[in-house]
Amino acid sequence: MHRSELTIDLGAIRHNARRLLEALAGGELWAVVKADGYGHGAGDAARAALDGGARALCVATVQEGIALRESEPEARIVVMSPAEEVAAAREARLELVVSGGEIPSDVPVHLKLDTGMGRWGLSELPQPPANVVGLMSHLATADYDPAFALRQVERFREATQPYSHLTRHLANSAAALRLPDARFDAARCGIALYGISPFEADPAEDGLRPALSWRSRLAQVRVLQPGESTGYGRRFVAERPTWIGIVPVGYADGFRRDMTGTEVLVDGEPRRAVGTVSMDAFAVGLDRELPAGTPVTIVGDGLLIERHAEAAGTIGYEIACGIGSDPSRTRRVVVD
Ligand SMILES: *Cc1c(COP(=O)(O)O)cnc(C)c1O
Repeated sequence: MHRSELTIDLGAIRHNARRLLEALAGGELWAVVKADGYGHGAGDAARAALDGGARALCVATVQEGIALRESEPEARIVVMSPAEEVAAAREARLELVVSGGEIPSDVPVHLKLDTGMGRWGLSELPQPPANVVGLMSHLATADYDPAFALRQVERFREATQPYSHLTRHLANSAAALRLPDARFDAARCGIALYGISPFEADPAEDGLRPALSWRSRLAQVRVLQPGESTGYGRRFVAERPTWIGIVPVGYADGFRRDMTGTEVLVDGEPRRAVGTVSMDAFAVGLDRELPAGTPVTIVGDGLLIERHAEAAGTIGYEIACGIGSDPSRTRRVVVD
């Protein structure tokens, strides 16, 4: 038996794509499936997003684009990070984002303008050569500072005004959902497609449905006597006789060390992860003896990835991308 099981619900991804399209009110949805579809599986996520109405796929690297091309011979695929492998991109019929240096020819190009992200991007748009198909920028604060985001929107609008025949795309998930001014012709949405909130809130607030669940079982149940501890560093010491369960999932699977203290569902009831998370296992506190094999839900059944992100002081994106996909450790099941 596998130590844990990931379930990817393609119906949820299709639903989220349709929800985003509704929010975009006429703009195109481009599905961001970089980093193996934020841990959900790029190929499956891409197919579901296209079925849900997405018109293009966005990846980070040429390698990701080439891998996706095999399962999606027809789709538009845009590589968002600066890429040097122009010939390979051309061969795989990818589109490239250019944010500096020479503009390659014979390949569709999107010019990226820096309007305030302060990362990649041109500070000014050159006269676009004929192979430029799109103009884009990226928002730094769409999730929490709409005032700054709107300044970026205005800079983008001004700079791209003369080229409104090109596809202009600026919005990410947060902007697609809550910043109508940032819509333009297309939006590049990742996190919301997977039903994870870009606002660190409950995704249901924006009509989104989580696509991933992650389940395991108690591998062992034991009682700690007062003074006994579980895990490295003795960070949890029992004060009274305490039942604990061992879940065979650890930081090598993406259950991070800083998720100690977060809650998981043991037989449907919230139970706290106690002691130091180790590479292959973590412990949960129980209020009674339970049989080995009792189901544990780490994500799903109403328990949100956002809660673990909060416990770890990070964002849902990072937890999702970090969930291990090694098939020798985790079984992956796709439901349609
Ligand atoms: C990752 C990425 C996105 C998607 O952002 P979400 O917040 O996941 O919707 C959009 N644009 C660029 C340039 C990105 O790198």
